Amino acid sequence: MESILIKDTTKQQRIELIRQWNTYDDGLDNCDIDLFDMYRDYIDGKREIAEINQAFTPEYVMEEDPQAVQGKRKDKVLVVVDMQKDFVDGVLGTPEAVAIVENVVTAIKEHDGDVIYTRDTHFANYMETQEGKKLPVPHCIKETEGWQLCAETESLRKPEDKVFDKPTFGSVELAEYLKEKSGLKEVVLVGLCTDICVISNAMLIKAYLPEVEVSVIEKCCAGVTPESHKNALEAMKMCQINVV
Ligand SMILES: [Zn+2]
Repeated sequence: MESILIKDTTKQQRIELIRQWNTYDDGLDNCDIDLFDMYRDYIDGKREIAEINQAFTPEYVMEEDPQAVQGKRKDKVLVVVDMQKDFVDGVLGTPEAVAIVENVVTAIKEHDGDVIYTRDTHFANYMETQEGKKLPVPHCIKETEGWQLCAETESLRKPEDKVFDKPTFGSVELAEYLKEKSGLKEVVLVGLCTDICVISNAMLIKAYLPEVEVSVIEKCCAGVTPESHKNALEAMKMCQINVV
C-alpha cells in the first residue's frame, strides 16, 4: 500500500484503505479509531509497524462498527449521574429533577464521545446502613423499578456504554476507570443530585485526575432543593470545576 495514498485521506477513507490492508483483514470489523491514528503516525514515520501490531490487542477492540465510531471523540466523556426513577419522580423525586430530564436527553444525544452512567445502588439492608440511618427513605434498591434509569435515559443507553453501580455517593471505581483512560482531557457531568452525587463524583474525579478539565452542566442537574443545588454549584466553582 502506498503511503502517499494514506497521508491526506479522511478517517473514513483510511478505514477503507486499511480494510484492504491484508495484515488487518481479520480484525477490521472491530477496529478502534485509535488504530487508524497510529497507522497515520506510521505513514508519517513517527511509529514502527511493530508498535502498531502490538497495540492491536483486545484493549483497542470495540464492539462497534468502525463506521459508527468514525470521528467519535476519545478525549471527552459524559458522565450521567444517577438519572434513576427514584430520584426523578420516585420516592426522592422533585419537580426540578423532572424538569432536567429533557436537557439530559439532549446532552446525551449531542455528546460526541463515550457516555458513562452511574446508578445509586442499595440493598435490602438499606435502613441499617449509615446512609439509611441519616436518610430513612429506602431508594434505589437493586433491581427494583426505582433503581432503573428513567425511561428517557434508559432508552438512550447503548450496550457498550459503561455503567457504574455505586453503594454510596461517589464512585471510586468510576474515578479509577477514568484515570486509566488515555488521552482524556475533559469529563462532563450531568444528573442527580447536584448537591450529593454530582458534587461527590466531580470532586472525586478532580482528585484522581488533576490535569483533566471537570465540568458540570447546570441546566442538566437538580438538587434536593433549589437552594442546595445553587450552593453545590458555588462549591464546585470554588474547586475549579467548570459550571457551564
Ligand atoms: Zn442512595
